[in-house]
Amino acid sequence: MTASLTIAIDGPAASGKTVVGRMLARQLGCRFLDTGLMYRAITWAALEVCINPRDAKKLGRLAQEQPVEVRFQEDGQVAVLVGGRDATLHLRDPRVEQAVSQVSQAAGVRDALVASQRRLAQDGPIVMAGRDIGTVVLADALVKVFLTASVRERARRRHAELEAQGDQTTYEEVLADLQRRDKVDSERKLSPLRPAADAQVVVTDGMDVEQVARFLMALVARRRL
Ligand code: C5P
Repeated sequence: MTASLTIAIDGPAASGKTVVGRMLARQLGCRFLDTGLMYRAITWAALEVCINPRDAKKLGRLAQEQPVEVRFQEDGQVAVLVGGRDATLHLRDPRVEQAVSQVSQAAGVRDALVASQRRLAQDGPIVMAGRDIGTVVLADALVKVFLTASVRERARRRHAELEAQGDQTTYEEVLADLQRRDKVDSERKLSPLRPAADAQVVVTDGMDVEQVARFLMALVARRRL
């Protein structure tokens, strides 16, 4: 059994899961875990030792032998270690970005990461974001939300974020990357991206972050009555 206050937020890349999830966790005074960081960390570790992102067997062995460890920091951020090595600064590397959806398809990787995500949920209240939280990881979560927006809206938001960081990536490149990841994540055999049958689907086109967070807080309040 997971803790009583568990909130599952799933959705495609750049749908706002992280920013909204973090805001919600702050308001509820609980931890926030973006599970994508764990898939990114194991991808980084695999690339470091030259494992081919298509080699599911070797990836599964790596995930078993070098556990992914999440450390929650005071400021709400997390550090992610793989086999004791800190991966935190490498999670957004372009080569990780490129390979992570492929690595995430390996059954052994998913088994290891899902098991540790469930253990983290047993430690206390948590808001967890990803692709399979409501369907697999926390199938008994108190609140399940599937956040989505049109791919053009998501590309516009992600492009604006990158531009603000001084990144030169064009809107067209961001759009193409999101379309590629949406396709891989929703067509894969294991735990494909889809809303849980009992999830509330929230389409966020035209909504700002505060509006989405308020909507989610209202859902949580209703479920806790
Ligand atoms: O959320 P983020 O875009 O950082 O996730 C990176 C990738 O990790 C996703 O594109 C997906 O392939 C994988 N992922 C997953 N299951 C999760 C979280 C992320 O397969 N729960």
